Amino acid sequence: MDDLVPSRQLFIAGEWREPVLKKRIPIVNPATEDIVGDLPAATAEDVDIAVDAARMAFFSNKGKDWASASGAYRAKFLRAIADMILERKSLLAKLETIDTGKPLDEAVSDMESSASCFKYYAELAEALDLKERTPVSIKQQSFKTHVLKEPIGVVALITPWNYPLLMAVWKVAPALAAGCTAILKPSELASVTCLELADICRQVGLPSGVLNVVTGLGSEVGAPLSSHPHVDKIAFTGSTATGIKVMTAAAQTIKPVSLELGGKSPILVFQDADLDNAAEWTIYGCFATSGQICSATSRLLVHESIAAKFLEKLIDWSKNIKISDPMEEGCRLGSVISKTQYEKILNFITTAKGEGATILHGGGRPQHLNQGFFIEPTIITDVGTSMSIWKEEVFGPVLCVKTFTTEDEALELANDTE
Ligand code: NAD
Repeated sequence: MDDLVPSRQLFIAGEWREPVLKKRIPIVNPATEDIVGDLPAATAEDVDIAVDAARMAFFSNKGKDWASASGAYRAKFLRAIADMILERKSLLAKLETIDTGKPLDEAVSDMESSASCFKYYAELAEALDLKERTPVSIKQQSFKTHVLKEPIGVVALITPWNYPLLMAVWKVAPALAAGCTAILKPSELASVTCLELADICRQVGLPSGVLNVVTGLGSEVGAPLSSHPHVDKIAFTGSTATGIKVMTAAAQTIKPVSLELGGKSPILVFQDADLDNAAEWTIYGCFATSGQICSATSRLLVHESIAAKFLEKLIDWSKNIKISDPMEEGCRLGSVISKTQYEKILNFITTAKGEGATILHGGGRPQHLNQGFFIEPTIITDVGTSMSIWKEEVFGPVLCVKTFTTEDEALELANDTE
């Protein structure tokens, strides 16, 4: 156990609430493999209670509800949340690092971005008051037509583990600014800072039920939220496979969904590029947050004439990346999120090798770290377009490389994903 990690319950209707079935999930620090605490693990029973609380906050209180309050009223809370995130930045960042294995200074920057996001949406909430109705001009003079923006209702926000607080805030802040009430379901692999966000909401006096934080497994919380008849919309960020499940479940009650899914982005380097600059961005694009980014530039396409020189630069950069305990100053590459993810990434590398690819740099556990789910920054060449390393999202510090000779060929390869 880590004294820094608070023991929390579910946050429903403005209060901490033990899950109905009293289940909990261990929290593992992926950089040490230690169990550092545990999380409340909700089930469908808790989802029902949270949805009721959110509906109550949306519809009740005799017109004083969140939905019909002014944007300025809602903005006041969003700003207070932003301020408290900044006040608690240092602790929150440490918790994020313990929970995810990401370097501490990356976590600090995530906390700052989370606060900025609340401030940004506070402004947009206020702007709603200035422009309640936007006239639309149509030919028929006998009709008066305007656009009126209204909150959709109760929204379920289902988020991944790579930027636990930031991904959640990108959904919570706009939902609350618009006047929706919400149930946030963070990833079971990294929920600690989302429960701390709940605590911040409690401290700033956010009205009861406006934001509920319900932690637990995808199958036990995400699935019942997605199919719930009283949830009006789902906003989901995560893998494409889960996105399909969410969309299918939501379709049963004709619920709109927003999906932000996985990726396999290319980065293209042409002969006339500034190679030092391009090398820096290639390394950053693929290895930041240990490559666990949906927009990670995990496929490098480099012009044949500069490939050898460019790869040398990438190897030099990779050798200089500090891989260490993510709490250590100057750490640039922490661990990946979990044992499962660690094994999945190593399996991708082994399979690529078996299919004839060359591991130009890295490819395994760093020699100096025998504990924690660490993987070296890895560069793979001799990659074929039918290989899984080329086609599938690895979500780890793995760059695969192909060369091209013409722009057309580069574009064709860039678009060559499933
Ligand atoms: P995941 O799909 O495994 O899980 C995402 C969330 O869905 C978690 O909270 C999980 O508990 C929940 N979930 C699981 N099963 C569910 C179900 N049946 N119904 C409803 N919810 C369910 O994704 P992950 O492993 O947490 O995150 C990594 C993925 O997220 C990668 O594919 C990455 O590309 C993607 N991602 C995308 C973006 C983006 O903006 N497009 C940003 C970050 C991450």
